[in-house]
Amino acid sequence: MRERGEQGKITIQYVLVLIQEVKPTPVNAPDTINSSKKIRLVMALRNAGIQDTDVLSAIERVPREHFIPNTMSDQAYEDIAVPIGLGQTISQPFVVAKMTEALEVTNLHKVLEIGTGTGYQACVLSKIARRVYTIERHKPLHALAEENFKALNIRNVTTLCGDGMRGWPTIQGMDQAPFDRIIVTAAAREKPPEKLIEQLNIGGIMIAPVGVAGHQMLKRYKKEAEDTYSVSDIMPVRFVPLLPDIARDTSEQGIA
Ligand code: SAH
Repeated sequence: MRERGEQGKITIQYVLVLIQEVKPTPVNAPDTINSSKKIRLVMALRNAGIQDTDVLSAIERVPREHFIPNTMSDQAYEDIAVPIGLGQTISQPFVVAKMTEALEVTNLHKVLEIGTGTGYQACVLSKIARRVYTIERHKPLHALAEENFKALNIRNVTTLCGDGMRGWPTIQGMDQAPFDRIIVTAAAREKPPEKLIEQLNIGGIMIAPVGVAGHQMLKRYKKEAEDTYSVSDIMPVRFVPLLPDIARDTSEQGIA
């Protein structure tokens, strides 16, 4: 009995050596590097408390390197915010995950996002929601986001260059309000614009950062009835400010 066992062990070891020898030498192709970095990021998000598997899987399916400047693409899967030009940033993956989780999105939901940036959060949402509508006030960022959605063949996101503080336009032919979920990715000073609460469905949830630089809190608003909503705090955050009107971008302020 014992002898046979030993023999079995030898055979297994031999097979393993053979497998190791025929295995091709690993290639450090960018895709291979990115997919292992991405898996590490998703595991880090899980360890940091993100539990919703739809959210983790959406993050895993979005190539974040598409949404950040080429010069910084090696940082695509670090859990950090990265500058995207015009004084704006792509949000930190943990914050994107936390906001998406808090939004409790399903594939039945129509979501409005204020602050497209280059489109990362909208792309993550597009993997879970039925449709995403997103508004950006900087024309060059809006154009870049459009390009990104096209390149990644994302068809359930509609973009608009405008002032998101006014909500989604209610003009005939464009009207989409009310929304099941609203996510604001720039911080209002005291509270999110009334117009946004107005465009939320009853029973709907809005996630938005509120406060001045250094003192911002991510908040969850639930619309209980036509004119009442509840508010709760999620966590302290750092976002760029929510600003009115379409930005007047000058040629000196390029996109990185
Ligand atoms: N959602 C983005 C975050 C971009 S940073 C991501 O996934 O990375 C926040 C963005 O909000 C900036 O691009 C800024 O220009 C935009 N923003 C600020 N105020 C706005 C407003 N009133 N309407 C639309 N976009 C606004």
